[in-house]
Amino acid sequence: MCRAPAVVSQAYSGQHLCAKHLDRSVRKKVGRELRKQLSINKPTTVLVAISGGKDSAVLLSMLVDLIGNRPDVRIVAGCVDEGIEGYRPPSIVAAASLCDMLGVEFITTSFDDQDFLAMDEVTASLDAILERNPEAPRLPCSYCGVFRRQGINALADMVQADVVALGHNLDDMAQTVLMNLTAGEVERSRRLAPHTDRPAEGLAPRIVPLRWIPEQEVHLVALHRNLPIHNEVCPNAEGALRWRMRDVVATLEADRPGTRHGLVRSLDAIRAMTPPSDLRTDAIGTCERCGSLSSRAVCKACEMRDLVGVK
Ligand code: SF4
Ligand SMILES: [Zn+2]
Ligand SMILES: [Zn+2]
Repeated sequence: MCRAPAVVSQAYSGQHLCAKHLDRSVRKKVGRELRKQLSINKPTTVLVAISGGKDSAVLLSMLVDLIGNRPDVRIVAGCVDEGIEGYRPPSIVAAASLCDMLGVEFITTSFDDQDFLAMDEVTASLDAILERNPEAPRLPCSYCGVFRRQGINALADMVQADVVALGHNLDDMAQTVLMNLTAGEVERSRRLAPHTDRPAEGLAPRIVPLRWIPEQEVHLVALHRNLPIHNEVCPNAEGALRWRMRDVVATLEADRPGTRHGLVRSLDAIRAMTPPSDLRTDAIGTCERCGSLSSRAVCKACEMRDLVGVK
């Protein structure tokens, strides 16, 4: 596009872009996706779930660019502290300084606030948990994922968010689609964000404006914009299925550029064939223990609380 040195060579599109042009093209794609996923026709509060990492940092910065000046939009950034020593504290610092830099309101909650065990305690007692209940999930991420979802719901409640924005990039989306497909769980993929309608009464729909942006490009934009980010990987990530899927998707993409787009496009095609009205939203009630939304009598988070034996 110009004479500046390219920072990325997009095998999937054949383009070479400098940092400035990459930023511009990413912003354009995010804007297009945002308009598709979010129609603002009344005062709207957007909770942006941030982690201190590059994806949510770029998401927040793009949203501030694209809709931050609108008088009918309130953007709040929220972070869930899982209680992972060495990993979470520095990333919360990065998240806070990002919000400072962008002038965005910042709120947090922690697993402890939500009556969960801190993740470090879950990890430390995993052997004991499994001994008590051999059926219990073996990997820390299975607990963390459920608790974090509840944490994000709590943050959304705090500010009465109309919508929750998540920083999933193209690689994340492609990994999830492939993971669900290989597990035979197409239904799960159909429920993935973006939600055009409320996935359940009382729950803010999720949007994922970065869903077409490759992880590497998100990272380059974060660097180009000088966003404060914490670029470490959670010590529990290794061993998780997603970790292996990362390699699989990266290998497939290198072998045949465009694979990631293809995976996400096939999800959209499946969705188009099966309208969202088919989804079993009617089955969703409230958990008899904690009152949060659940399709079962006792919600997944309460079930996990029982497993880890907390409070
Ligand atoms: S890698 Fe697993 S344990 Fe670590 S933050 Fe993510 S979900 Fe939680
Ligand atoms: Zn250029
Ligand atoms: Zn519950």
